[in-house]
Amino acid sequence: MKVTVHQPLCVASGNCGHVAPRVFRNRDANGGFVELLEADPPEGDQDAVREAEYLCPSGTIQVDGHSMPPRSSTP
Ligand code: SF4
Repeated sequence: MKVTVHQPLCVASGNCGHVAPRVFRNRDANGGFVELLEADPPEGDQDAVREAEYLCPSGTIQVDGHSMPPRSSTP
């Protein structure tokens, strides 16, 4: 698995560091912009990385070259 983040898209929700703390860190306790800690996470962290990718509202997280599209704020 190859993980990248496109920092300019990050809206500092903090979701990624909450669900995958060994791979992502947010810069303060209540969220904050993402810092990628591990670009090649071990298998034991990969489900959490996929969850973080899914929960990221801005499409900042890419896994194996793909990212989820940013979500609309309206239903
Ligand atoms: S989940 Fe996405 S928007 Fe939220 S802090 Fe992580 S990278 Fe940034």
